[in-house]
Amino acid sequence: MAELIYSNPEIYRINVPLTGNPLKNLNCYVIKDGGESAVIDTGFRMEECHRALMDGLHEIGVSPEHTKLLITHLHSDHIGLAASFDYPDTTIYMGETEYEYYRRMKEGDLLGRIDQQYRLEGFPEEELQDAIKTNPASIYLPDATFPVTTLREGDEVRVGDTVLTALFMPGHTPGQMIFYIRDKKIMFLADHLLFDITPNITKWAGVDNSLQQYMHNLDRLLEFDIAVALPAHRGLANKRIKDRVGEILAHHEKRLGQIMQVLKEHPGATGYEIAGGLTWSMRGKAWKDAPNRQKWFAVGETLAHLEYLQARGEIRQIKKEENGREVNSYILI
Ligand SMILES: [Zn+2]
Repeated sequence: MAELIYSNPEIYRINVPLTGNPLKNLNCYVIKDGGESAVIDTGFRMEECHRALMDGLHEIGVSPEHTKLLITHLHSDHIGLAASFDYPDTTIYMGETEYEYYRRMKEGDLLGRIDQQYRLEGFPEEELQDAIKTNPASIYLPDATFPVTTLREGDEVRVGDTVLTALFMPGHTPGQMIFYIRDKKIMFLADHLLFDITPNITKWAGVDNSLQQYMHNLDRLLEFDIAVALPAHRGLANKRIKDRVGEILAHHEKRLGQIMQVLKEHPGATGYEIAGGLTWSMRGKAWKDAPNRQKWFAVGETLAHLEYLQARGEIRQIKKEENGREVNSYILI
């Protein structure tokens, strides 16, 4: 179903269900102006998402064969169906840094390096294998890479008279792009800022201090005049951007404080052990009973916070031996 949420230019929201996933849905936005259109993000590479997206597009007279597709970032719920738009008259746009990272994930050794990073932080091998097998972050990605036109900060994509400006906002992923219609003060936020849930911040192999980058770019968001804020998941904006940015920054500060507390009580804990000592919303499940893929996300988030604390000079990483292998552990300074 497509819902009209803005009339000049016409902007529709297609609700793409992400069944079984805590995110619940993807808000796919479609801009129509002067006989042209642009689609922002797609949903998982999964039949249910494909059907919802194609039905929604059909309803508003947009064909995947003649449009522009803007992919904000490499997460499977955004990029999953991008290959369904690989037609001669459709251009697929994606940020340069993000596309390069995605390409290396699909064709290079990046996924293996990410797995190795988890092993090094004490994630048990059996749990890791299970998490990898069931992880929607990788199983619903497109089969392969596809041709894209890459974007950099400030590049513009035109849809009729509407100009979408690409803004480089890494943090949630290595190179997420969000899009701004300056004269209408409309911001397509992707996963940079969500109102009902907190965007996941994780440690990416080869990326320096994601949390620091994320916090910097949350602040940067406040430099833009935004009248209409369009997040990629769940409900539309329900409070001022400034207030939501403040809440998310406070959430991360609180988490940093919790990690310091865990390390005070358990000096030398691994990333995996620290994550187990924090509070997570795991649908009422205790850490030991949580699904392995949720532990995988929780450990990734913990590692981003540990890296941030190291950069801030509050903790230090040391090597220790665990079950015959060397792992990272952490102590307060
Ligand atoms: Zn995302």
